[in-house]
Amino acid sequence: MNIAVVLYTSDLRLHDHPPLRAALSSCDRVVPLFVRDRAIEAAGFAAPNRLAFLADCLADLDAGLRERGGRLVIRSGDAVAEVCALVQETDADEVHMAAGVSAYAHAREERLRAALEARGRRLYVHDTVVTAVAPGAVLPAGSDHFAVFTPYLRRWSELPARTPAPAPRTVPVPPDIGSDPLPARGAVTGTSPGLARGGEREARRLLTHWLRDGITHYEDVHDDLAGDATSRLSPHLHFGTLSPAEAVHRARAAGGPGAEAFVRQLCWRDFHHQVLAARPAAATEDYRPRQDRWRTGADAEEEVRAWKEGRTGYPVVDAAMRQLRHEGWMHNRGRLLAASFLAKTLYVDWRTGARHFLELLVDGDLANNQLNWQWVAGTGTDTRPNRVLNPVRQGLRYDPDGSYVHRWVPELAGLPAPRVHEPWRLPAPERARYDYPDPVVDLADGLDRFRRGRDGT
Ligand code: FAD
Repeated sequence: MNIAVVLYTSDLRLHDHPPLRAALSSCDRVVPLFVRDRAIEAAGFAAPNRLAFLADCLADLDAGLRERGGRLVIRSGDAVAEVCALVQETDADEVHMAAGVSAYAHAREERLRAALEARGRRLYVHDTVVTAVAPGAVLPAGSDHFAVFTPYLRRWSELPARTPAPAPRTVPVPPDIGSDPLPARGAVTGTSPGLARGGEREARRLLTHWLRDGITHYEDVHDDLAGDATSRLSPHLHFGTLSPAEAVHRARAAGGPGAEAFVRQLCWRDFHHQVLAARPAAATEDYRPRQDRWRTGADAEEEVRAWKEGRTGYPVVDAAMRQLRHEGWMHNRGRLLAASFLAKTLYVDWRTGARHFLELLVDGDLANNQLNWQWVAGTGTDTRPNRVLNPVRQGLRYDPDGSYVHRWVPELAGLPAPRVHEPWRLPAPERARYDYPDPVVDLADGLDRFRRGRDGT
């Protein structure tokens, strides 16, 4: 009897899952394995919101496997050591897993390949599991990745999206394999009160609902902060409860300008993944160094604290930061303007902001988070690295009636738009009615600091 181990990482699903399909077609039995990787936890990536969402995903994956005659095996420790131990226990012939893009994922693959080869076993690494198109599948002449989005989009769009594969009908798992208990969402402390629910069933429900009711108007309303009219699929794409190839395929089938705009966002996701796959150091180092002299010291620290707490005195920035804390998620327009405020207006190192986002975001993802932060900071792939988003203009444009601010900054709920975006301009007696801070910095001063710091003048 042939046995394959399927090592799950960021691909916690049954539908459209190349490693599981390949394992089932070459072996009689499979062992679906998830390792609670101590190295990932020690590196600080196991933020409470993602741990709680992960617990949902694992419980749902286990339930789906049980419906098919199998179950999920959970182990804790070093992923390579745990896979090797399981291979030995079950006398498995091969191991299948999804390709990752981070430096850690590459190193884990290499260590696992070597350890398995030393035992006469083979590792199969499948691409197009965590991305719709594999990093490196399209390349510009003379480079190992695309550094600019538009030409990448052109080439990416020419590739046919893989037809998504259904979930297998049965998943035969050998009996008597020891497993740690499933982690419980309720045991995780420090989560955001409005945290979304994880799991493949929830992902599929959301996608179906989105394709039926949301996608049509996406192009027109995706930037409307209060409208909240984006798919909210990002945590599912991060944990792989939804196949990105399936999302592309089904959106293309839905058709129309909304679907086109949505597929374009999925291409952004692949774009950042192919950058990180080729330049893993971009998770921590400037992709395009600009000789920045980021502000540090007590004043900067005080301003960063205000930014984290949603008390900068710029209502739309504060609304976005409070949404992040409350939901573990933030609207894309909010991410853009809150990140620009930190990296450009406060002129604080983007890594400080990226770290804070990773502590809270349920979709917190090394490729998407770090490279979007770099894009905003101007150290990444943005072709206009010195653009600065003005939070007042952003508020007036993307929250014209102030309802996003009213929702998240209740101190200002009684103040109508457009004045709600500039409360410091109110006459003093009226201003005193609102328990809301003055701006931490004047916008013109912020711009000046940024220009001087970046130009070195
Ligand atoms: P939709 O608008 O419905 O888009 C569909 C999907 O496309 C998203 O789920 C996401 O997977 C992808 N997508 C959309 N915009 C982007 C983008 N700019 N870059 C890459 N992929 C995109 N996204 C993350 O998934 N994880 C992160 O950690 C993350 N950090 C970010 C940090 C900053 C500073 C910025 C500006 C953006 C960040 N994003 C991140 C990208 C984007 O904001 C979110 O993917 C999006 O808001 C998620 O909401 P949604 O699923 O409703 O998106």
